[in-house]
This record gives sequence, C-alpha cells and structure tokens, in this order.
Amino acid sequence: MKFGGTSIGDGARMKHVALLAKEYREKGNEIVLVTSALSGVTDALLKNAKDASETGKTSSVKEFIADLTKQHHQAAHDAINKSNIVEKVTGEIDSRIEELEKALIGICYLGELTVRSIDYISSYGERLAAPILCGSLNSIGVKSHTFTGGEAGIITTDEYGNARPLEKTYFLVKERMEPLLQDGIPVVTGFIGENEAGIITTLGRGGSDFSASIIGAAISADEIWLWKEVNGILTTDPKIVPEARTIPFISYIEAMELSYFGAKVLHPKAIEPAIKHGIPVRVKNTFDPDFPGTIVVKDLKQSRDIVKAVTVIKNVALINISGAGMVGTIGVAARVFTTLANAGVNIIMISQGSSEANISLVVDENHLDKAVRGIKAEFKNGIIKEVTHDRKICVVAVVGAGMANTPGVAGRVFGALGKAAVNVIMISQGSSQHNISFVVSEDGAKKAVQVLHREFGLEKEK
Ligand code: ADP
Ligand code: ASP
Ligand code: MG
Repeated sequence: MKFGGTSIGDGARMKHVALLAKEYREKGNEIVLVTSALSGVTDALLKNAKDASETGKTSSVKEFIADLTKQHHQAAHDAINKSNIVEKVTGEIDSRIEELEKALIGICYLGELTVRSIDYISSYGERLAAPILCGSLNSIGVKSHTFTGGEAGIITTDEYGNARPLEKTYFLVKERMEPLLQDGIPVVTGFIGENEAGIITTLGRGGSDFSASIIGAAISADEIWLWKEVNGILTTDPKIVPEARTIPFISYIEAMELSYFGAKVLHPKAIEPAIKHGIPVRVKNTFDPDFPGTIVVKDLKQSRDIVKAVTVIKNVALINISGAGMVGTIGVAARVFTTLANAGVNIIMISQGSSEANISLVVDENHLDKAVRGIKAEFKNGIIKEVTHDRKICVVAVVGAGMANTPGVAGRVFGALGKAAVNVIMISQGSSQHNISFVVSEDGAKKAVQVLHREFGLEKEK
C-alpha cells in the first residue's frame, strides 16, 4: 500500500492512515507501507535547493529549515499519542534535518547544484515522513521499522532524477521485506532508491507509485494499492472537469497510456512491474476507503465505451524543423533523433507529413533549449532551413483500447474540437490505436478536454 502526499498531508491524516493500515492488517492482510513526502514538501525542497545555488543566501536556508522542522514536529505530535514515541521520532527528524541543512548550506557556498545533489536533497521529504508514520503505527500497537528505498533493496541505475531499478532489486526486496510481514508493517520511503555505490537516486516525480509497484512485484503481492485523495482513476483530471467519473476497471495498457499522456494520478512507470508479475493495481481514496476505486488488470474485454479518458500534458514545447532540402533526402530523421538522443532530450510526440518538408516534435519544456541548440548545430550548413519552437502548447490525448478498429473516432474528436473552435496544431495516432493525441495552444487545452469529455459522454453513469 502506498499513500500519497495529500493522504499523509499532516499529522491527523497520518494517524488516519496508520489506523487504516492496522485495520486491513487485522482483517488478515500482510502489508508493506510505502510513503510519500507530506504534500508540498518535495516541491519546497527542490525550490530551496535551487535558490541556495543561485542566491547563496544561508539566511533563507535557515528559515526554510526552521519551517520544515516545525511542520514535521507538529505532524509527529498529531500523529502519535505516546510521548516517548513522539520524542524518539522528533529526535530522528532533527538529526535528518541537520544533515539536510548542512547539504543546503554547502550548496550555498558552492553555488552549484548537480543532478546527484538534487536527488539527495529531494529524498528528504520521504525520509522525514517515514519515521512519523512508523511512530504512529507503533503508538497504536503495530510493530514497524522504517527503510529508505535503498535499505529496502531498491537498487537503481545512475540516472539521477529518473532512475530505474536493476533486476537484482526484485530479489533483494523480497529477501529483506518478506520476513517482516508476519510481525508488523514495514514503512518504506517511496520515490527513492540508491545506486550500486550506495548513493541516493530518485525514480522521477510522483515516483512513490513506482516504488510501491516495484515492492509489490518483488514480494509477489496479491495486489498493489495506491491510496490517493481522488476516487481512483477518473475519466479526466477532476480539476479540469469536476464531473469526471471513476473508471472502475481499466487495462494495464490503458492505464499506462493515460499516465504517459499526462494523467498525474499514476507515475508513468508504475504499471510496468505490475504487468511483468501479473499483479492487479488498485487506486483508492484514502478519505473514502470503502469506495472501490479503480482496479487495473491484465485482460479486459473491449468495453462499450470506446474512449475511456482524456488527458493533458503540460510543460511541453513544440519544435518545427523545415526546409525544402529535406524532401527525399534520406537520413534526416535519423540525424534529428540521434542528435536529440545524444543531447538527452525526451521526445513526447513526432509527426512528419508525406511532403517530407518538415518534422514536428514535442519535447519536455526544460529540454527545449538543448534540443534546438543540438539540431541547429547538427544541420548548420545544410538541408534544414528553419528550426522554430513554441512553448505555449499542451498535448491532449484521448485514450481507450476500444478505439482500435473502431472507425470514426478521430472524426468525432476533431469534429467536436472544430465545432468548439479549438485550433489543432499537430496530430498523432500510434498504430496501437489506443490513443489519439494532438497539440493545442495552452489556452485551448482546458476547453479541448472539456469538449471531448462531453463528446464521448464520459460524465454519464455507465
Ligand atoms: P499522490 O500524491 O497521492 O500520488 P497525485 O497528486 O500524484 O496523488 O495524483 C492525484 C491527482 O491527479 C489528483 O488530485 C488529480 O487532480 C490528478 N489527476 C489528473 N488526471 C487524473 C485522472 N484521470 N484521474 C484521477 N486523478 C487525476
Ligand atoms: N514526493 C515525490 C514527489 O512529490 C514522490 C511522490 O509523491 O510520489 O514527486
Ligand atoms: Mg503521485
């Protein structure tokens, strides 16, 4: 069971989570708890690390450290009702925060923030939350110890900020976690692992979903449960369309496509370990535990609803590469993609028309500069005339396995957008036919999602 940031947002919520876990344990389940950071803490850590490297102001670091200490002490007091345990936990918090402070002050003096230090700093959110949750469990009579991802056995690649578990992880986690399950509920920090040299890595933003899935797969869990503050996976982000509904059943593939195409509810890699080991994933609401939520499973008969969900990816940018010289010239695309791969650019969408006079790409916004620089350098005296870009765009996608071999879906998508006067900038549909994605201006994205949600009747009870 993984609990997200909002689910453990403060001490009272952590106590609720501890009681919930205890209740499920008493019903005969063996549980590993994976915890996120308290909501907002990871963002705050990242912001303060960046500020420290840019401004070098140690006074700001001290202020931040004082706030963070206060927040976590308060949570410990509210989550734990035994003073000796509160004392032990706040002691642990203090010594961790002291290490964090030293690291941030170091960054102030160095004026430098490496990918490795970003992972180190951002790991503190989970590392401060875990002792509180563990203390809360202890205080209601449940045996529990905390583990960092690395201590639990999650050993990863060196790809800081986006690390992947090495194969031995599955063996190590099993060896370390299984013996503890009969006796109590181990608490593992989500989001973080360590590389083979023992240095902390992170699995990417929202990575505690991935941690839970890795651990669930390793111990051959019956199910992997991701507890959030929403009623499961919904037909779209309820922040954009309040009428969005819970999708009760969804296939692994659909859930993956949804998360690739921006549904923040799941980390994009969270489904992989579950698929490999055939373990169902449940997404449930911490604040309404009796509501069944969503279950993600392997096989699903093609359902009546062709489109299951609409998603939007923000913080992306469009690159247009054009030049008449590209027509009929073999190897242009290969050079573009090799250049971008070498520059470490993540490509989200690709399109090339058959006129071959231009290639359009969507990339992560923070990769835009290096992407454009790389392409210009590669083609400095040749066939590419112009490289333009646009930051003010979003990718919208409609997702559903039922779309495969169903004629007319694209017609409905673009017809509805046309009627609503939403301008479509670029279109892509993979041959898996499980999604249609397209680019619109940032201003048009919300409307596009709302229009399509209505067009496919997703707000209606099924
Ligand atoms: P946690 O921190 O518990 O993992 P997240 O904040 O990462 O939770 O994910 C839940 C959020 O995802 C919701 O608050 C919701 O706004 C957003 N979201 C986006 N798309 C969807 C969707 N299709 N279904 C449910 N939630 C979604
Ligand atoms: N705390 C991490 C983040 O905010 C991981 C997570 O919440 O899943 O990205
Ligand atoms: Mg998340």
